[in-house]
Amino acid sequence: MKCQRCSKTAVVFQKYSNAHFCKPHFIEDVERKIKRDIRKFGMIKKGERIAIALSGGKDSTALLYVLHKIFQNRRDLELLAVTIDEGIHGYREHTLEHAKKLTRELGISHTIVSFKEGFGITLDELAAKKEHAACTLCGVLRKNLLNRVARELGADKLATGHNLDDEAQTILMNYLRGDTDRLKRMSPGITQPGLVMRIKPLRSIPEKEVALYGFLNNLPVSTDECPYAGEALRNEIREIVNNYEVRHPGTKYSLLGGFDEISPMMQPLTTQIVRCEICGEPSSVAVCKTCRLLGRI
Ligand code: SF4
Ligand SMILES: [Zn+2]
Ligand SMILES: [Zn+2]
Repeated sequence: MKCQRCSKTAVVFQKYSNAHFCKPHFIEDVERKIKRDIRKFGMIKKGERIAIALSGGKDSTALLYVLHKIFQNRRDLELLAVTIDEGIHGYREHTLEHAKKLTRELGISHTIVSFKEGFGITLDELAAKKEHAACTLCGVLRKNLLNRVARELGADKLATGHNLDDEAQTILMNYLRGDTDRLKRMSPGITQPGLVMRIKPLRSIPEKEVALYGFLNNLPVSTDECPYAGEALRNEIREIVNNYEVRHPGTKYSLLGGFDEISPMMQPLTTQIVRCEICGEPSSVAVCKTCRLLGRI
């Protein structure tokens, strides 16, 4: 098959848009969508310091690379990489090496903070207690530490590598749970006291295309899988959305587009953000989820 923009051989077929692209035109298409979303949602503004959550996996690696590519000549902007080392033996060591390699090559300052430093305990030690699922602990604690580190680094925004698949799944999960507050908090541009504003520049790029973008750009990506992998409900939703996408190409974009249409009309957040009574970090209840999971009460 030939690229629809030139006569070169296509490397990808986008079923949802019925388009074939060669390598340069595929890369151009991905970057065009990212730049469009950055502009449309005002994700990155003049003079800002952007912290990028870099795990060393395919999404965050592509995110760091593409933001550097787009903004490397903007003297007024600063990009910083932040990696959280949860303490997952036999897994995190490898992804960390990839993350270090990429930041070294791009000349981006890199801050690495571990759960051990942030909370005094590793994820492996916490998971061994078998009180909570590893992914629940990991998600809540990582979010807490990323926000803390980004704030301490003076970042205006915290960029994460969530792709179209992640967003479509989370939107559907929140609909199914009837969790409108969580849904509202997903809207681009939401500010909450004490929380560094999150931006998701890859939100319009399907997961497979993020992976292909990384591969075609020879990015150092770890393919190791976390030994704890698998949030039950998310896996179920992923399967539903993927199956539906096969039968009805464009479903993931419809989920995201529909959400973008209704989110400005949604009620303001009903939960107030307060400071956690124990650690002082922002929380929607008196004692934050991190402190509760760590058994600090
Ligand atoms: S799979 Fe679960 S435990 Fe592993 S990194 Fe992801 S959220 Fe953390
Ligand atoms: Zn082409
Ligand atoms: Zn707390």
